[in-house]
Amino acid sequence: MLRSTLLAAARSQGVRRLVEANPLTKPVVARFVAGTTPEDAVRATRALRDQNMYVTLDHLGEDTLLAQQAADTVHAYQQMLQALSAEGLADRAEVSVKLSAVGQFLPADGEKIALDNARLICEAAAAAGTTVTLDMEDHTTTDSTLGILRDLRVDFPWVGAVLQAYLHRTEQDCRDLAGEGSRVRLCKGAYSEPASVAYQDKAEVDRSYVRCLKILMEGDGYPMVASHDPRMVAIAADLAARSGRSADSYEFQMLFGIRAEEQKRIASEGNKLRVYVAYGDEWYGYFMRRLAERPANLVFFLRSLLSQ
Ligand code: FAD
Repeated sequence: MLRSTLLAAARSQGVRRLVEANPLTKPVVARFVAGTTPEDAVRATRALRDQNMYVTLDHLGEDTLLAQQAADTVHAYQQMLQALSAEGLADRAEVSVKLSAVGQFLPADGEKIALDNARLICEAAAAAGTTVTLDMEDHTTTDSTLGILRDLRVDFPWVGAVLQAYLHRTEQDCRDLAGEGSRVRLCKGAYSEPASVAYQDKAEVDRSYVRCLKILMEGDGYPMVASHDPRMVAIAADLAARSGRSADSYEFQMLFGIRAEEQKRIASEGNKLRVYVAYGDEWYGYFMRRLAERPANLVFFLRSLLSQ
């Protein structure tokens, strides 16, 4: 109930204005968002690199209905990729892209514009010597995103995608994407979805996550285990061992600011650990999804507002 209210608020412009206007929100946002500028993102990447971790950078933004805003997002990614290369960090950091930030929802030709824009980001990533992973948004975009993934992989076979274990369809999507060279980031799913397409019960989502993990680990692709759940992390390690995978044939991934000690532990035990680092001004939707994932975050947020 609380989760769906927060996820509805994540898409409300009225609540957005209220939350953004409150200066006391900023310090709480800083727990999950690495800053607003490319320099902030590079600084966070360097600090994680120094702890033997890898990074995927998300220039925040989503759901744009303006072609110019989509073009600006592409430009921001191009600049970021150049900066990573210039700083010698491109072997440690890739980028994550939301197709709705580069035009997927534009009323005329949105899908084609998103594909063309994503292609420009892939070209910049190729020039820098790194990779791109497509984030997955709500279920109405899944077919479109996987279609764009297929098109991009013709020229850039290393482009990866996120699959969400809460969707009923995802086991089949995992089978389709478990082939050689395929990079799949498996997460539980962060949006509010109806029972017609998604498991509603946490235990059911967890069971689906394990079934999907099994398919990916037994396949020939490169699984990216995106979860903070200690059970999922342990099961992933076990399935990888049973499938005869070496430590460099899959990786763990967590979000910036969440379970940082666990991130250090995983990386220190010889595993590859990548941190998803979000930066930029458009933090509202991302921040609200982080609040929705854990009631304690909301309590922390409200308490910090009330204690001022
Ligand atoms: P949960 O069962 O939700 O959490 C397990 C434990 O992790 C909790 O008990 C708590 O200790 C900790 N935890 C989890 N979330 C939080 C939080 N917000 N704050 C503090 N502690 C927390 N979702 C999408 O729908 N599309 C995407 O493209 C996408 N990309 C992602 C990329 C990465 C690298 C990661 C790690 C997640 C991504 N997600 C994405 C979010 C994901 O779907 C989940 O909503 C989120 O990861 C919480 O699920 P969990 O697997 O960590 O397990």
